[in-house]
Amino acid sequence: MSDPVPPRAEIVVDLAAVRHNVRLLKDVVRGERPVALMAVVKADGYGHGMVEVAAAARAAGADWLGVATIEEALALRAAGDRGPLLCWLSAPGDDFAAAVAADVEVTAYSLEELEEIAAVGPARVQLKVDTGLSRGGAARQDWHDLFAVASDLEREGRIRVTGIWSHFAASDDPAHPANDAQEAAFRDALALAASAGLEPDVTHLANSAATLLRPSSHFDLVRCGIATYGLDPAPGAGSDDGPRAALRPAMTARARLVMSKAIAAGDGVSYGHTWHAPDDTTVGLVPAGYGDGVPRAAGNVAAVWVDDALRPIRGRVCMDQVVVDLGGELPPPGTEVVLFGPGDRGEPTAQDWAEAVDTISYEIVTRVGGRFVRRHIDTDAPGGASERTAR
Ligand SMILES: *Cc1c(COP(=O)(O)O)cnc(C)c1O
Repeated sequence: MSDPVPPRAEIVVDLAAVRHNVRLLKDVVRGERPVALMAVVKADGYGHGMVEVAAAARAAGADWLGVATIEEALALRAAGDRGPLLCWLSAPGDDFAAAVAADVEVTAYSLEELEEIAAVGPARVQLKVDTGLSRGGAARQDWHDLFAVASDLEREGRIRVTGIWSHFAASDDPAHPANDAQEAAFRDALALAASAGLEPDVTHLANSAATLLRPSSHFDLVRCGIATYGLDPAPGAGSDDGPRAALRPAMTARARLVMSKAIAAGDGVSYGHTWHAPDDTTVGLVPAGYGDGVPRAAGNVAAVWVDDALRPIRGRVCMDQVVVDLGGELPPPGTEVVLFGPGDRGEPTAQDWAEAVDTISYEIVTRVGGRFVRRHIDTDAPGGASERTAR
């Protein structure tokens, strides 16, 4: 990943990795029964660039795209996407009319939302049932009325119920009892919907972890977010030499070293002197900080990759910069510093950062940004890592 004048700090997204992951996930669900794949590209494609990732996912065979908000869905349409597209998080007053006009399928959690959507119909609506996450979706005691009203509205030609779906609370922990309970509750909901006369095109429950770990939850469609980006959705579920191990992380965050210099034993490093050099050493200045989404919690616990070696962050992460221990080496300014990447060269991964700062890889890749310049490459394109797009 070299280019003539790299910016101070950049995020490089390999769209070939996205396509690889989408093909791999399609293989996972390829069985005797057709199961469609939705690539979830909300939150700017988990920080990878929504429009670029969406196009790559479609090219690799993603049947559906999924986003949270109507605005995200409309941005995909504005960028030229024309395929099946679902959004699922609306606030009162959101522009359902624009979504319907753009052939975006919307999700209703409640009778109020259903009425709001029907008012701008005829709309293609999916119904979300809460099977135990206790987040969005209709509570069990409201399923009957939601299905009954949806069925009436469908008969009146004001909506068409195209899907019924739900979302797992603990699919990254395959032994968690909530998984069986939620899947059973979902089957109850589908039976109730059928008795109300609903015949949705798709029923769906699985996110990335359930796609990879729970085939019984695949139904007609699986919604894969994090795995699309090549990150393991269930790092605590034991090691795996199957599809989870074959995922390819798409994002690399890297910067150019600003300076390196010697410090003496006893010297304190960065704000508050939370680290003192036990011995004479050298330190390097990396020009990215919490203002760019580098977690402040990474101070003294995470590491970066400089000149083929892991170099620990010393002291606090600052707004614009971090200091790393170069162990006596004095690499020149401009030397590549990889914060995280696919791990192929030994560099840390987003998962390594997540473990260091007690979060999940989702948050690492979604938050990194700020003044990082993001560009997209395609390592499968003729000529190798050629640049495709920049922002
Ligand atoms: C974000 C999201 C997903 C994707 O989850 P992953 O764990 O990233 O695969 C799927 N469904 C819904 C409703 C979501 O909000």
